[in-house]
Amino acid sequence: MARLELDEVTKVFDTKAETIVAVEELDLDIEDGEFIVVVGPSGCGKSTTLRMIAGLETVTDGEIRLGGERINEKSPKDRDIAMVFQSYALYPHKTVHQNMAYGLHLSTDLDDEEIDRRVQEAADMMGIEDLLEKKPSSLSGGQQQRVATGRAIVREPSLFLFDEPLSNLDAKLRKHMRTEISRIHSEVGITTVYVTHDQEEAMTMADRIVILNGGKLQQIGAPKKVYHEPTNYFVADFIGSPSMNFLDVELERNPDGSGTITSADFSYDVSSRLLEPVDASTSDLIFGIRPEDVRIDPEAPPEKTIELTVDVVEIVGSDNFIYLDLAGKEFRVRTGSEVEPAEGDVVNVTFDEDDIHLFDSRTEEALV
Ligand code: ATP
Repeated sequence: MARLELDEVTKVFDTKAETIVAVEELDLDIEDGEFIVVVGPSGCGKSTTLRMIAGLETVTDGEIRLGGERINEKSPKDRDIAMVFQSYALYPHKTVHQNMAYGLHLSTDLDDEEIDRRVQEAADMMGIEDLLEKKPSSLSGGQQQRVATGRAIVREPSLFLFDEPLSNLDAKLRKHMRTEISRIHSEVGITTVYVTHDQEEAMTMADRIVILNGGKLQQIGAPKKVYHEPTNYFVADFIGSPSMNFLDVELERNPDGSGTITSADFSYDVSSRLLEPVDASTSDLIFGIRPEDVRIDPEAPPEKTIELTVDVVEIVGSDNFIYLDLAGKEFRVRTGSEVEPAEGDVVNVTFDEDDIHLFDSRTEEALV
């Protein structure tokens, strides 16, 4: 087990056509035993970060330390890191047992008996004891995934890296496997960095989520923290589904410090307490509210109400997603199944001011 530190890590790809800064001055400090999930849009540098940690890609600048020791120059096999790939990367001609044992034969001087003990133990943990003599081609995707994870476990590494390990599985199996991986992590307690496209995976599995955009760190924090307290517009927009509603607004201040946030189609009174973190000179803001923080309430006071027309009602079982029209822009509301307006209805929409997010229009940093 070990702490993983990235200190201003940069990766530049110099291709004939262009210079790509895939990762830029990335600082991460990952505690011993933590489960970190890295998310971000396609091309944001997730895989490159993982590959630099694994030693599959050189580091252009900065330092990577594992257990306090610089590993930049170490070859992948000397890093005490096990990686699980999206493609599983199993050897097709070897049995499951041989696949799991191969890395140990290569990189350790353990005897056959100890290797076999470790393979059996990992197979037990992954529930693949009955598959040990089979070849990968005769296994289902889910079983191959288990073998790939089992192969990482037998190494008893200081660090696990997972690169979208569940993306080739169907939705149901994916949910099951993410519980399995979380269970195994709590059993073995090995520091883990896990890359995914799947927000639900990130929110349910992570101790802390790392959000990247354009190779730069946007925020690192517990799932609840990044959801409720995004540091900027990008994170607020990226985390959450359906995503947060945004609107460009102007802030008009009253002498007592309270104010009104307005746009052509929208006006909402806010208290001086809410506006405390907003600099007096700042008036151009992006207003944000999560769909589940919005209520449809005919009784709401007019100074805290917007009137909107219902475009679409989507019934998803326990909840309804209601899509409203705000001056040609989609405004999303998530309500209980008992709220079911008809398409074309004009409804009163309101929310509590404590659920409001405000971002500086210029810097896009969160103010409230
Ligand atoms: P995805 O979610 O689509 O897998 P990602 O977040 O993992 O994306 P990376 O694969 O790390 O993103 O890529 C980051 C940037 O670096 C992209 O612009 C990509 O095109 C570029 N890149 C990655 N590998 C190379 C390479 N070997 N040569 C040149 N450019 C590369």
